[in-house]
Amino acid sequence: MEKVSKKIVEVRQVPITSNILRTVLTIAGLIFAIISAIMMLTIVLFIPGIFGVLIGLVVAILSAPKTPVNCPYCLTENKATFKAKSFKCDGCAETVPIRWKDESKWTSWSAWRRKKDDKKEA
Ligand SMILES: [Zn+2]
Repeated sequence: MEKVSKKIVEVRQVPITSNILRTVLTIAGLIFAIISAIMMLTIVLFIPGIFGVLIGLVVAILSAPKTPVNCPYCLTENKATFKAKSFKCDGCAETVPIRWKDESKWTSWSAWRRKKDDKKEA
């Protein structure tokens, strides 16, 4: 199997504020998962805690902002998870690397994450 030149798609990053509901759901899911993880630490709530973590993570993943991306091989429109390094095409099962183009410094996911990391260090 030879893959000499892999096609890369460039995707314009959708500002996080353009899909505030999904963003809120993602964060809510993560918070729910974290609370459930804390619940798991108490022996009584261990079992519901496991379910809580799973539900929270599923909600977070399902509601993660998606960006439409056209496959460069078969032009099928795929939904790429926000900031994913690559996506697998539904049409031809080809894995395509994504290069994200920053739209705005203020609303970008990486800027938001950087801010969070700063807080963690403090
Ligand atoms: Zn394809």
